[in-house]
Amino acid sequence: MGRRRQSGLFETLFKSVFGVGTTVHYKTDWLGRKQKVVKHHDSGKTKTYTHGTGFFGNKTRTKTVKQGKVVEEGTVRENIFWSGATERARKRDGTDVTRKYSPGFFRDHVTTHENGICFKCDGTGQKEINCRTCNGTGTFTFPDGQCRACNGTGRYGEDQCRRCSGTGIYSSGKQTSCNRCEGSGRRSVICNKCNGSGKFIKSSYR
Ligand SMILES: [Zn+2]
Ligand SMILES: [Zn+2]
Ligand SMILES: [Zn+2]
Repeated sequence: MGRRRQSGLFETLFKSVFGVGTTVHYKTDWLGRKQKVVKHHDSGKTKTYTHGTGFFGNKTRTKTVKQGKVVEEGTVRENIFWSGATERARKRDGTDVTRKYSPGFFRDHVTTHENGICFKCDGTGQKEINCRTCNGTGTFTFPDGQCRACNGTGRYGEDQCRRCSGTGIYSSGKQTSCNRCEGSGRRSVICNKCNGSGKFIKSSYR
């Protein structure tokens, strides 16, 4: 068997980075590989780090599960020329995630870059919304025209208004196809999450 990393850099790094609101336990999988299981209580995610042996390669594989579904998979490599480690992962929706872990004096830091397709618009940069002019019906009804002869009262002195036959309405509202949405009831607007780029890019440091 190859060299097996019992503990050390990874453990220290992850423990300090995810120290709050997490519980950690260790186990061995059916192939005899050492695993570290980190439960994040606030997000409900469980991340498993499987340390590679010489036989399976020295990479550490990560798998994040939420509500029984795999939401992210990746690999961690120790940086050779400087201290720390880099994780490259892919989320279920295709977003690429790079996390750089670096040890600090008082606490360790993680820099996260996420790069993928905007999940709000599925990468189209556009979002379909209900047309507000017609409330999504596709038709627009003009308001009834009031009879001007009787000011909509239907009365002309003592008599019924002859112009509108006492209805008070000169012309009844016409229904037309809504020209704002061309009768579809839906309108395409630029996605406000990605400003129309269709891309999801996020960087954070802590
Ligand atoms: Zn978008
Ligand atoms: Zn009238
Ligand atoms: Zn409309």
